[in-house]
Amino acid sequence: MKVLKFGGTSVGSAQRMKEVAKLIADGEKKIVVLSAMSGTTNTLVEISDYLYKKNPEGANEIINRLESKYKQHVNELYSSDEYKQKTLEFIKAQFDYIRSYTKDIFTLFEEKVILAQGELISTNMMTNYLLEQGVKAVLLPALEFMRTDKNAEPDPVYIKEKLTTQLDMYPDAEIYITQGFICRNAYGEIDNLQRGGSDYTASLIGAAVNASEIQIWTDIDGMHDNDPRIVDKTSPVRHLHFEEAAELAYFGAKILHPTCVQPAKYANIPVRLLNTMEPTAPGTLISNDTEKGKIKAVAAKDNITAIKIKSSRMLLAHGFLRKVFEIFESYQTSIDMICTSEVGVSVSIDNTKHLNEILNDLKKYGTVTVDKDMCIVCVVGDLEWENVGFEAKALDAMREIPVRMISFGGSNYNISFLIREADKKRALQSLSDHLFNGK
Ligand code: ASP
Ligand code: MG
Repeated sequence: MKVLKFGGTSVGSAQRMKEVAKLIADGEKKIVVLSAMSGTTNTLVEISDYLYKKNPEGANEIINRLESKYKQHVNELYSSDEYKQKTLEFIKAQFDYIRSYTKDIFTLFEEKVILAQGELISTNMMTNYLLEQGVKAVLLPALEFMRTDKNAEPDPVYIKEKLTTQLDMYPDAEIYITQGFICRNAYGEIDNLQRGGSDYTASLIGAAVNASEIQIWTDIDGMHDNDPRIVDKTSPVRHLHFEEAAELAYFGAKILHPTCVQPAKYANIPVRLLNTMEPTAPGTLISNDTEKGKIKAVAAKDNITAIKIKSSRMLLAHGFLRKVFEIFESYQTSIDMICTSEVGVSVSIDNTKHLNEILNDLKKYGTVTVDKDMCIVCVVGDLEWENVGFEAKALDAMREIPVRMISFGGSNYNISFLIREADKKRALQSLSDHLFNGK
């Protein structure tokens, strides 16, 4: 069985919901995970914000506006009065419920209940629409099986057991619809898997039912040459290893968050990124298979700061790196690239909030140099160290470009260069020419 997830914009209007319905009703049994309609979760956050600030009037105004938007969606979605009425009643009940929270104390607990409404409503709308179309659809309530443990981590044993029970209740159903994002915590309270958590839901469900494939449908092509952060290529990226995808996620590629796909990766279930605007395109497949000797993509990230700490005390000493890293840790600043020599270490960071404090502390250990407006350019692909030639090719492409740092060997799938932001375009073009176009 396949698990399909549709994001907020894919179900963002009545028209889009109809398109999704057409896409999923192909006679094959499947589980469909839906996000809230686009913008809804943000609006629910805004409502909660007014309630935290003890401004029920502000909250009510937004609640009413959101409710009338949903009434309009319902009017456009259904053709029969029966389903229109049924869905309107459900929506009214949910909004009355949200309104009931404007009268009482408001805490994190209440906020989570409010945030859950977007997915509860979108799945109800879709299920009713499918039923109206004569499709054998059932709504599986995520709150019955999606659960986190005391460490706020998903509980795979519970999820599998309860989800199986739910599925067994409806053996004849063709499409099982369920909510992304929402869950119950270890105390049985309504909770969620964090913003954007619907991908995580899909991945957890895929692992629980041992799906043949997990499909993540968005309105953007998962990994395409028109992604502005990926350099132009002649062909879209059709296949990535989970680790190649994780490397690219750092560069803001419109790709899945690595923690969200972890359950799929561990269960060895391929994840396919697909585009609702181009449903017949093959998309990008992410799996545990490596395409031998293939370079997949070149990506870049701006606003990088490089810091070098040079000290003769580092020579033959131990514990020097720990002291340096502890400084970054104490300012909650994560290090991205690292290069070391016997007498110095260079690191790159992208969060400069505490740069001055960090520099001050580092000066205790050595001479510190800073380079701002830098950029990481990263080549992703099968760069297993025993393969020969790829490092040379990448380096050759950088021949004309001043390179501040080079990092290779951190993973089998990446070689990174730190260069000036001003040289980025040139570097990307040259890498693309050397690695993809055989120049
Ligand atoms: N609706 C939630 C959000 O906007 C979850 C999701 O869409 O993945 O964050
Ligand atoms: Mg690296």
